[in-house]
Amino acid sequence: METYDVIVIGLGGMGSAAAHHLAARGRRVLGLERFGPAHDQGASHGGSRITRQTYFEDPAYVPLLLRSYELWAALERDSGRDLMDLCGGIMIGSPDSLTVAGSRRSSEQWGLPHEMLDAAEIRRRFPNLRPQPHEVGLYERKAGLVRPEETVRANLDRASALGASLRFEEPVTEWTSSSSAVQVRTARGTYSAGALVICPGPWAPSLLADLGIPFSVERQVQFFFQPVGGVSAYLPDRQPIFIWEGPPETQVYGFPALDGPSGGVKVAFFRGGEVTTPETIDRSIRPDEIAAVAAHLADRVPGVAGTYLRGKTCMYTNTLDTHFVIGRHPGHANVTVACGFSGHGFKFVPVVGEILADLALTGATRHPLGLFDPRRFSDAHP
Ligand SMILES: Cc1cc2nc3c(=O)[nH]c(=O)nc-3n(C[C@H](O)[C@H](O)[C@H](O)COP(=O)(O)OP(=O)(O)OC[C@H]3O[C@@H](n4cnc5c(N)ncnc54)[C@H](O)[C@@H]3O)c2cc1C
Repeated sequence: METYDVIVIGLGGMGSAAAHHLAARGRRVLGLERFGPAHDQGASHGGSRITRQTYFEDPAYVPLLLRSYELWAALERDSGRDLMDLCGGIMIGSPDSLTVAGSRRSSEQWGLPHEMLDAAEIRRRFPNLRPQPHEVGLYERKAGLVRPEETVRANLDRASALGASLRFEEPVTEWTSSSSAVQVRTARGTYSAGALVICPGPWAPSLLADLGIPFSVERQVQFFFQPVGGVSAYLPDRQPIFIWEGPPETQVYGFPALDGPSGGVKVAFFRGGEVTTPETIDRSIRPDEIAAVAAHLADRVPGVAGTYLRGKTCMYTNTLDTHFVIGRHPGHANVTVACGFSGHGFKFVPVVGEILADLALTGATRHPLGLFDPRRFSDAHP
């Protein structure tokens, strides 16, 4: 049986970063992945992800984001890949909406640079956007987008270059742990290590069933449109990323035009998708859902949903409170878990890699993980 210091299960967003950080600390690392490198069957594909520092979800995420930005810059440098475009971002809604008020609260709490814009100012600065008179926007210059597939590839390349063994098309069928070691079984063999890191994305309900966490996997569609008049008015120097709330609890978001004339503009709803599983998800895109997102944007970003180009399904793995699950497995001291990213995890990929390496090797991390305790859903937890 082959023996390693640490085995990482799942080489998507989080697992590829964990493998990189563990290998960078000189450990013998084995990474095991069900599909190929940077595949499109999980949660880390579709060409773009929003990144921002103002965080309406909770100000407690901000220190992690600041570190993530540093690590992203280092990864770009070390990999030579283009991973990040800080084209700016605007969070729009009524002044008391979660999107606006929550972003404002986190900015003020952490002293993050931002501008509050009224509807007329939004229309003047970003002519593609047509807010209602009562709507306002928080503009953050340092918001923008990151590239999911390129980031996964960059982390996998760095992990390999630093000596990690990465095996693809090799699903894990079982893992066990004792006080002295972990064992992982796949169709091709059995491996052992001193520690295990599990980053299963939407496969968490099966691979981490023993956590007892009520995950809900959600189908989401990323829609790509050719705007009326082409992409030129939507290039990143003119069009920031946006998150737009309204009516209450509906958030739609979008990106600038990327990847040339055929790349189009990506838009999507945040949350509200159908409950699914990785085995049963409907990967086809229905005409009614294309029509629904186009209609929702018609008054807000008129012309963006000109011609439908293509769509791509993706999965959120939601927890009840929509906060992540990161920490030691409560039942196994040498197993660390990272899952339940609830549709907003990608911008944290580099810092989660660092945290998982800290936890797997030392049992502790300097990063604040208070929101993410894997035990918080259990009745016994105070
Ligand atoms: C449509 C959409 C839009 C999003 N937009 C944003 C955004 O704008 N900003 C943002 O920050 N976040 C966003 N997210 C969320 C973010 O992309 C995810 O939180 C993040 O990608 C999760 O990474 P992961 O590593 O947990 O999952 P994944 O990347 O899916 O990785 C899990 C990996 O585990 C592998 N695996 C599972 N089971 C096994 C097994 N038994 N054996 C071997 N391998 C296994 C899988 O094949 C997969 O590669 C979005 C997500 C979606 C779906």
